[in-house]
Amino acid sequence: MLVQTKAIVIKENEVGETDRLVTLLTEKAGVIRAFARGARNVKSKALSATRLFCYAEMSIWASSDKYVIRDAAPIEVFFGLREDMTKIALASYFSQLLLELAPSEENAADYLKLMLNCLHFLQTGAKPPAQLKSIFELRLLSMAGYMPAVEACAGCGKFESKQMYFLPQTGELFCEACHKRGTAVSISVVSAMRYILYSELKKAFSFELTDTALSALEAVSEQYVIAQTEKRFSTLEFYHTIE
Ligand SMILES: [Zn+2]
Repeated sequence: MLVQTKAIVIKENEVGETDRLVTLLTEKAGVIRAFARGARNVKSKALSATRLFCYAEMSIWASSDKYVIRDAAPIEVFFGLREDMTKIALASYFSQLLLELAPSEENAADYLKLMLNCLHFLQTGAKPPAQLKSIFELRLLSMAGYMPAVEACAGCGKFESKQMYFLPQTGELFCEACHKRGTAVSISVVSAMRYILYSELKKAFSFELTDTALSALEAVSEQYVIAQTEKRFSTLEFYHTIE
């Protein structure tokens, strides 16, 4: 069966002398692994379109045991990411999170949209990496079924207090009066989390925080990822070593 879908390469491995095995986040079939035969041959059209972070329109042959890319026409190669180690590191972390949390063999259009938007802003430098990282983490986790409950205090229902507390293990928020444990977060960080989670995707990027609040947002979003997935991410550790 031939599947026609938009896809982005989120992982690449060389196989043999000329082939490439890529992991794709596709619009129609989620995360799949596919062979690009002869993709490393210099004359191959598929060469650039099957490189890491390339977004392309692909024709993929699906048989019972494997996927093979028949044709790939690049739409956006995100070449600008390669100029900057921090950008590459963050894009690699996004990819690793997708491998962990995006669905396989089912529609993943929303996941693809999130990735493309974040890579676009990362490439242009229009938003700070820390902001993109928090947006990616919180929205991805929500899509994957781990939506944190930050509307109001989990104890008394109060919408806000000057200082609030977020519990990464449960995704709950507490006011000053109800809190027993959790990470202290200012109301501006709580507002940013709500904005990221409850806005339409295209609007979710348009907020600004002070450097201090952005660092706090980045820290608490990351704590939430680690607590919910119970995983260590090598790409995240690498990102922190060069950040
Ligand atoms: Zn309360």
